[in-house]
Amino acid sequence: MIVAIASGKGGTGKTTIATNMALTLEEAMPTQILDCDVEEPNAHLFLNPAVANIELVTLPVPVVDETRCDVCGRCSAVCAFHAILVMGGRVLAFPELCHGCGGCSLFCPTGAISEKPIDIGVVESGWAGGDGRINFVHGKLKVGRALAPPVIRAVKRKAHSKEAYAIIIDAPPGTSCPVVASMVGSDFCLLVTEPTPFGLNDLVLAVEMVKALKIPFGVLINRSGLGDEELKAYCEQNQIPILLEIPFDRRYAACYARGGRLVEEFPELKEALRGLWQKIEKKVGVESKL
Ligand code: SF4
Ligand code: SF4
Repeated sequence: MIVAIASGKGGTGKTTIATNMALTLEEAMPTQILDCDVEEPNAHLFLNPAVANIELVTLPVPVVDETRCDVCGRCSAVCAFHAILVMGGRVLAFPELCHGCGGCSLFCPTGAISEKPIDIGVVESGWAGGDGRINFVHGKLKVGRALAPPVIRAVKRKAHSKEAYAIIIDAPPGTSCPVVASMVGSDFCLLVTEPTPFGLNDLVLAVEMVKALKIPFGVLINRSGLGDEELKAYCEQNQIPILLEIPFDRRYAACYARGGRLVEEFPELKEALRGLWQKIEKKVGVESKL
């Protein structure tokens, strides 16, 4: 089963839930965590994985042979991202805008365009958890590169069999393309939020996104009791299941601040996360492995 853990915004505790869920499940079943927040991965800070494999992620960008180019402008017309332009009788390519779709070289009538790979990031994988039973994968977008989705897709290609593994995807915050790339193919999406006006505003956007993707979803309210009741009212009105509430507790915040593992210090949270996983299994319709 693949469960994406997402949030409409940063700072809601999404990575805390993802990493502690992995630490809860690893005792019972093969578990994998894919940290798809490639611009700022931080699941490794809590899981301390031993990295065993590093792979480069590259993107093919166009290179123009001016001796073969007749400046017809077709490449420029084809590119939806304005990454190749005809100006002043020359063709200019802008690799930082290129999505590597290959359209320009495909449509160039003179064969003037070839492709060269540029590095856009890395995927690191290894093992973490008690006896190294969590398979850990994360991506890192190279500084200065703007294209997170290809790195996210490279992380997701490392996913093990979803029948055998509990696979947890730690999605980036927000509702943009990288979040969609992270969540596509998941069996369920857990939206982590907090009971504040900002939390509600971002949850509404996240709900619209998962509905558009047709992924079943539910809500986890973190730091429950801190804010108001608007969030719960919204969930009730829209028949959105609240699968778990984790109360605000200064001890949890202190544990998180020093990079501690909540489920190791607070057994009640481990039980709560086990119960949450079972609820998700039920909603997805898979037999419980817990
Ligand atoms: S499509 Fe090919 S020939 Fe036409 S402008 Fe682009 S590179 Fe030159
Ligand atoms: S490969 Fe695609 S995105 Fe890149 S310049 Fe060519 S058409 Fe544009």
